[in-house]
Amino acid sequence: MSTNLIEFKDVSFRYGEDQPWVLKNVSFTIDEDEWVAIIGHNGSGKSTIAKLINGLLFPQEGEILIDGKKVTEDSIWDIRKDVGMVFQNPDNQFVGATVQDDVAFGMENRGISRETMVERIESTLNAVGMKDYLLTEPHRLSGGQKQRVAIASVLAISPKVLILDEATAMLDPNGRKEIMQTVSGLQDRQGLSLITITHDLQEVVQADRVLVMNGGQIWDEAEPRKIFAKKEELREIGLDVPFVAILADALLDAGITIAHEPLN
Ligand code: ADP
Repeated sequence: MSTNLIEFKDVSFRYGEDQPWVLKNVSFTIDEDEWVAIIGHNGSGKSTIAKLINGLLFPQEGEILIDGKKVTEDSIWDIRKDVGMVFQNPDNQFVGATVQDDVAFGMENRGISRETMVERIESTLNAVGMKDYLLTEPHRLSGGQKQRVAIASVLAISPKVLILDEATAMLDPNGRKEIMQTVSGLQDRQGLSLITITHDLQEVVQADRVLVMNGGQIWDEAEPRKIFAKKEELREIGLDVPFVAILADALLDAGITIAHEPLN
């Protein structure tokens, strides 16, 4: 049976008492092992959701539960151990002088033994396809490679939730493809829930479920194919369905199934 790892119950948030609500009565759940893509145009509230999950912000109304624990100022240090985040700018996420130092860094303060650290450096860099770069200095890596190392560094601390907040936004098409392939490869990791935040519908194709945000509210929530079917309405809220998804859908309607591969 699947478990709710993240639960938003009627959450409302604003950045100050004199500010407008940026999230209003938002409720959703995310299961263990599930990949949920959160999509919406700029300013629709996506990053605010990520910051609320990580306890960088707290809601004025409603409540948020992570693995059954309510997110409060008291519980947040405990909860952050379970939540890993990768952000937009690949250059702001490096702390180590080499790739292996970087992956080791997050583990160093957690009392993890040397032996386990070495194992995890290897297994997480392997999971993101970067095991041949152990001793490489970060500035020698491409943007996509840097983001893959950032993902490995977060995985090394064994989070239950991995959030990628516009992690592909500053990458070229190749880098984006690398990250989407890496993320889909992580889906087999048991017990890891994935949240990818994007404004690009092309990046939600492989997710289990898509949560569409508009004006601080959930506009729709369904599997990718059902979301793509609403292409006219999506355009009205500033989101374009990629041509490849329309084509795949038309083929499916004609009884032709295509392989579930990442879109280029
Ligand atoms: P998205 O990630 O979908 O682009 P955000 O969650 O970043 O949206 O922002 C939602 C709304 O909150 C926007 O209108 C934005 O201008 C506003 N906002 C974001 N950060 C702040 C802040 N630090 N102070 C005031 N308003 C903010």
